[in-house]
Amino acid sequence: MGKNSPERYTEPMISFDLECAEGHRFEGIFRDYSSFEGQLNEGKIQCPFCNTTVVKRLFSGCAIQAKSLSKRNAETITPNFFEYMRMVQSYVKENFEDVGKDFAETARAIHYGVEEERNIYGESSPREMKDLVDEGIGVVPLVDVSKLEN
Ligand SMILES: [Zn+2]
Repeated sequence: MGKNSPERYTEPMISFDLECAEGHRFEGIFRDYSSFEGQLNEGKIQCPFCNTTVVKRLFSGCAIQAKSLSKRNAETITPNFFEYMRMVQSYVKENFEDVGKDFAETARAIHYGVEEERNIYGESSPREMKDLVDEGIGVVPLVDVSKLEN
């Protein structure tokens, strides 16, 4: 457990966009809505620019933050990334010609008009990729998802 202990989720923070009587806009972060309301009513919310306590909430920009939110987002984004890369890969494999280890050579031949223009994919070392890019040959590294996941 440890990382997923419940107290990580019990500290939600609410951030409000606020505006003072002078038109300064700033963000206030509060434990919850009633905490914000209480501080507002007691005149404890102060504009950081002119120190006035005459402030109001701007309703356009309200967000709820939880400390663990970014981590949870990362967890939900990652499978989508693999899914996306898998889609790209299967598209390439269906529509591109596999030239295997001759990739750099074939890409160069196509670029200089030695071979007919077509979509290819294959194996290439980072060094070969760099040389191709330096020569102005458009190559895109393809992430091997199966290797990343294992
Ligand atoms: Zn102000």
